[in-house]
Amino acid sequence: MTVGVVGGGQLGRMLALAGYPLGVDFLFLDPAREAPAGRVAPVVHGAFTDPQLLEWLAGECEVITFDWENISVEALREHASGHEARICPPIAALAAAQDRVSEKRLFERLGIPTTRWRAVGSVSQLERALTEVGLPGMLKTRRMGYDGKGQLRIRTREDAHRAFEALGDVPLIYEEWVPFDCEVSIIGARSVRGETAVYPLSGNVHADGILRLTRAPFGPASWQRAAARHLARCLQHFRYVGVLAVEFFVRNGRLIANEMAPRVHNSGHWTIEGSATSQFENHLRAILGLPLGSTRSLGHSAMINLIGEVPPREQLLAIEGLHLHDYGKQPRTGRKVGHCTLVEDTAAKRDRLARRLLKTLAPGVRFS
Ligand code: AMP
Repeated sequence: MTVGVVGGGQLGRMLALAGYPLGVDFLFLDPAREAPAGRVAPVVHGAFTDPQLLEWLAGECEVITFDWENISVEALREHASGHEARICPPIAALAAAQDRVSEKRLFERLGIPTTRWRAVGSVSQLERALTEVGLPGMLKTRRMGYDGKGQLRIRTREDAHRAFEALGDVPLIYEEWVPFDCEVSIIGARSVRGETAVYPLSGNVHADGILRLTRAPFGPASWQRAAARHLARCLQHFRYVGVLAVEFFVRNGRLIANEMAPRVHNSGHWTIEGSATSQFENHLRAILGLPLGSTRSLGHSAMINLIGEVPPREQLLAIEGLHLHDYGKQPRTGRKVGHCTLVEDTAAKRDRLARRLLKTLAPGVRFS
């Protein structure tokens, strides 16, 4: 069985690492010569929109998936479908997640609470959005935003006009600022056969829009139930196949959907060591029509992202129980270059160790 993956980043690399024990082979498509998946699997280099490469990939593989959602829906539809290969997750879910306005409309249609928002395409629409949604807020590009890119916090009307200029001539969305108590995400898989498997909730801490820390299992059973209910609606709506993640703000015990990702997710990296089956393996099982694996936690996990550069390995590996994942990327400010995971017997021990690690890896990042 060969899985074609559009995008050869760290998510693709971890998919391949999870797939080899199952006897699955991989072919990646990525424009970057140094794509992280290239260290562990063959990569064809070319544009994500290249018609010939997409057609070739679809001809070579049983199934096509993606590790990055800012790829062209049109190119996938036109050149990769109609072949033997199935495309999973469904292109409709990818299209909805690519545009923050479609995503908000979807949440509303499915009865999933989300932030108040307005689409902004002109100064007059911006003025109306500020009046109707109120201040403070966030002005975000509708498309292509990730890791805090393409979004600015708005405190005053002047801020909003400056941000409108700075974000450029692209469709925007203005949404209310949520003074959240914490952020959580839920990750689940749905297989070709309609079977589902849902992981325990992850508690996430971001800094400058980038995920820094995830702890799991997280939060009371009522949050888990609410998040799983919202996730199930999305899975059902798309007759989804693969792993889906939905991120929420939590305010006064209420979950407010922020966004969804139709792929394996950074807040699920802890499942590699912290769960009976990782999100990567379950994504593969789901898209290949295999039975899904157990999502039972093996302890209390913490995942810390390594941003910018990977610290000396000796230093990290000297910490008992620490698992290091180095994506093999060149160092660059603000770039996710690796992560490390701890799995402990108790939440208290996990938190103590995570605090100690954060002091050196991400000073200033705190959690309660
Ligand atoms: P996003 O790209 O929308 O996931 O935003 C990245 C991070 O920025 C979120 O995980 C939050 O920490 C923060 N953020 C984004 N939108 C809002 C909002 N409306 N209110 C408060 N924080 C936000």
